[in-house]
Amino acid sequence: MSQTPFNIQRAAVIGAGTMGRGIVMCLANAGVAVQWVDNNPQMLEQALVTVSDTYAHSVRQERIDQVEADARIARVTAAADYAAIRDVDLVIEAVYENLELKQSIFRELDGLLKPQAILASNTSALDIDAIAAVTGRPQQVLGLHFFSPAHIMKLLEIVRGAQTAPAVIDAALALGKRMGKVSVVSGNCDGFIGNRMLNTYVLEARKMLLEGAYPYQVDAALQGFGFAMGPFRMFDVVGVDLQWRARQLSGVGQDAPEVQVDNRLCEQGRFGQKSGDGYYHYEPGSRQAEHDPLVDALVLEVSEGLGFHRREISPEEILERCLLALVNEGAKILQEGIAGSAHDIDLVYLNGYGFPADKGGPMAWADQQGLADIHQRLLALETRQGDHWRPARLIGELAAAGRGFADK
Ligand code: NAD
Repeated sequence: MSQTPFNIQRAAVIGAGTMGRGIVMCLANAGVAVQWVDNNPQMLEQALVTVSDTYAHSVRQERIDQVEADARIARVTAAADYAAIRDVDLVIEAVYENLELKQSIFRELDGLLKPQAILASNTSALDIDAIAAVTGRPQQVLGLHFFSPAHIMKLLEIVRGAQTAPAVIDAALALGKRMGKVSVVSGNCDGFIGNRMLNTYVLEARKMLLEGAYPYQVDAALQGFGFAMGPFRMFDVVGVDLQWRARQLSGVGQDAPEVQVDNRLCEQGRFGQKSGDGYYHYEPGSRQAEHDPLVDALVLEVSEGLGFHRREISPEEILERCLLALVNEGAKILQEGIAGSAHDIDLVYLNGYGFPADKGGPMAWADQQGLADIHQRLLALETRQGDHWRPARLIGELAAAGRGFADK
């Protein structure tokens, strides 16, 4: 067990929603005692039942025995308020994705917890430095970005703020190891490594709907390449409405042409699997995505309404644009020092985003193609489609030197 100055024996989790539940189990599975806080007592009660049920299921599946299940459950206790968690070594906050809310919680915790305690946020994209800035211990604040469902997904992005101390990153890496995670350290930027790259890929997928493709065609091309699921099936799983609501709340991005199909689906209550319809149709109780001609008609109506002259988009073009969007953003992430290596980026994509394992990750895939070739293909896209395809400086440099991302 780690003997850093930040040996983590006792933790607290704030928030008993989707992510809090999985994170609590990760900690309990790793032998860490967890106190759990939620300002909605019913939510916490339900969450404790879900955790017990999940362990009971694991016993039935013979993944753990009853003694182990009992030990894990015994490690998890409800805490009435923040005063009850004042002695913990680590807090992981997993409340709603709202900066002011998170800042108010961090401010309060900072005033209560012992000076050596570490404060972590599970935010998907908020600025870790803006959260750290409200505390008197920014060197002990970081992001611990788990993926859903947190007790199953292997990836943990450890987000280093501008002032996070190296010993705190080491403690997080040691904890990640105890939890059996694949941990990758990321710098602090919008979306960190994984979601920042995902955003560029999703944008291309959405643009292609407007230009002529249909959701099932985009997904089929990417699944044919080996992705666990294409972007539109992924939206249905996570909820098409998540980003729609976030855009409504922030008042930013709602008018962009690329999100008009999402907007129309959400206006019709088509939120994805949870509502039975989204980009696909789902029979009651089924998670099987079924092609829905109504969605194709909606896509056609939206794109023609926006003045697009639709054209056929081949599976090859779909792959080229989605994969090169990932590679180009990955290269920018590497050149900015957000990721420590191309391998780290590949680990994120293999363990958190369903990139096909046999291709090695987006950066390894690009190296296999040869960066001179990738550079030419990006330049061709830039000529055809505009500035957002300008190759990252790093790609040009490595290509000119006959090197790959792995050599950086
Ligand atoms: P959720 O809505 O399922 O749960 C949030 C919980 O926080 C609720 O139980 C709510 O009662 C509680 N809460 C709200 N305000 C509180 C307060 N002041 N004090 C204590 N508890 C409070 O949300 P979620 O999906 O679990 O997401 C939580 C965080 O994790 C967000 O920052 C989100 O961006 C991030 N995240 C989510 C996912 C995902 O797939 N859901 C993945 C990675 C990261």
